[in-house]
Amino acid sequence: MHKVIIIGSGCAGLTAAIYAARADLKPLVLDGYEPGGQLALTTMVENFPGFPEGILGPELIENTRKQAQRFGTEFRSGAVTSVDLSKRPFKIEAGKESYECEALIVAAGASARMLGIESEGHLLGHGVSTCATCDGYFFRNRDILVVGGGDTAMEEATFLTKFAKSVTILHRRNEFRATRIMLDRAHANEKIKFLTPYVIDEVHDVTKKSVEMVTVRNVDTNEKKTIATEGVFVAIGHDPNTKVFQGQLKMDDAGYLLTDHGSQTNVEGVFAAGDVQDHRYRQAVTAAGSGCMAAIDAEKFLTGLKD
Ligand code: NDP
Repeated sequence: MHKVIIIGSGCAGLTAAIYAARADLKPLVLDGYEPGGQLALTTMVENFPGFPEGILGPELIENTRKQAQRFGTEFRSGAVTSVDLSKRPFKIEAGKESYECEALIVAAGASARMLGIESEGHLLGHGVSTCATCDGYFFRNRDILVVGGGDTAMEEATFLTKFAKSVTILHRRNEFRATRIMLDRAHANEKIKFLTPYVIDEVHDVTKKSVEMVTVRNVDTNEKKTIATEGVFVAIGHDPNTKVFQGQLKMDDAGYLLTDHGSQTNVEGVFAAGDVQDHRYRQAVTAAGSGCMAAIDAEKFLTGLKD
């Protein structure tokens, strides 16, 4: 029986672990499918306070993990396959392993949707990015592409014009899912061009570990062409990792967990932190902040139980 289990080992989960461990709750962290979360997939992080020269995402995660370990956090690998939150102690299964806990912090994150092309995976962090706020700065005076037709694509493209020489929004349909105001703002921006209805077939050049051009295909005519570009921002949405909580924790239509009074979910004793409950800010620092909140809320809840 654990006092606190934390599901997820990204910025939110690890910060929750530091706080819970320092409160002597001996937390257990279940790593999940993507240990380290999205930071483990990025390169330089220049907007996390306290690192004037920036820090590599994987290094930031490794440091935070060590910090949590130093205060007695235990880690287990493996992704959660089912949970029973109907009564306390809560039951959690990860493959063949079963765990029980008095309080649960869900920091399972959200995964950026990817295009699913092999070269995209090889060039992630080397010209392919899923976060304009994180990586836009590295594309000063470059010609770049943003893929997607939703609000995120419009928002990221508009943001990226601060740095880039030109931004081309590439979308698979002629119609856009984005809200009128976001679309109009992108159309009004002189640096933004639109390319529809196109999809990316290949990102080059994997052998050089940098993005130099893309092969795109017209969805209507199947005609292919190559376009020179130095960056590809994939902005086709995120999926919160909440499938195992369906029917037990309240979520919005997109699957993000709903919280109230800080990190409290609809089940007493279950708290949520980080991108699993935040589709708005999605920053390392906000995830860390909400992980801290969840640990404090869990501690208060457990103290209340003992009274
Ligand atoms: P959306 O699901 O709204 O849009 C995703 C876009 O990506 C769609 O245009 C979709 O195309 C395209 N897409 C999905 N999969 C693929 C694929 N495999 N290949 C190519 N294209 C693909 O996600 P967003 O992240 O844009 O927005 C999520 C939510 O967050 C929305 O409710 C949005 O309004 C909100 N949001 C609000 C903002 C704001 O108000 N400031 C900013 C950002 C997001 P298709 O249309 O053809 O399906």
